[in-house]
Amino acid sequence: MSPVYQLMRPILDYVLPPRCPGCGNVVEADHRFCVPCWQQLDFLTGSGCARCSIPMSVQDGLTCGPCLGSPPSFDGVIAAVAYGDIARRVALRLKYGRRTGFARTIASVLAPRLQSDVALYIPVPLHRWRLWSRGFNQSHAIGTALARLHGVSCRSDILIRTRATPPLRGMNASERQRTVKSAFATTIKLQGQHIYLVDDVFTTGATADACARVLKRAGAGRVTVVCWTRVIRDD
Ligand SMILES: [Zn+2]
Ligand SMILES: [Zn+2]
Repeated sequence: MSPVYQLMRPILDYVLPPRCPGCGNVVEADHRFCVPCWQQLDFLTGSGCARCSIPMSVQDGLTCGPCLGSPPSFDGVIAAVAYGDIARRVALRLKYGRRTGFARTIASVLAPRLQSDVALYIPVPLHRWRLWSRGFNQSHAIGTALARLHGVSCRSDILIRTRATPPLRGMNASERQRTVKSAFATTIKLQGQHIYLVDDVFTTGATADACARVLKRAGAGRVTVVCWTRVIRDD
């Protein structure tokens, strides 16, 4: 923490007190959830399907039906919490509120689940027009916060979106797959690194799969999806 920041701290806390990313209420310290929000979050452990880590009612470590039918290009998914009311509100507050502090809160929940020696964090990119109009890529904010915690880099110039895609909300899995197909490209060759592909919300995995495919084609060794929240299908 810089001396200037420490000096300014009481003033900053007065103007911008730390807030809970779930409900926006003031909390006593930075990068915390308030107790009611924390209690409502459904934290995931990471065990489940060998491929996509979705919790399974049968034995962990097997491969789930969708992954058997169509194996994804990524090698695993690390999600902090199951998608639900609070998780959704956190994602929306980060996306539209542009509070990088919320990205650091998310990173502090995710960091203990991640390996510190992974080479590179790469965020799921926004198309440049969308980035220009919104001015903020929430996945990049989470990736930057995580990379900083682990002393590695987060690069948003390696994976790019070559065309704008409509919002995937309301589409089924195959519609999503068709929409994001060939929407991504890489700008450099990778050297077999393990990549943490960072996203905010993992729904069907169509976007992450399309991103992982081009990263692998560019030479990535492993691609693990890292996200704040994922939708848990009930099947
Ligand atoms: Zn709260
Ligand atoms: Zn699976």
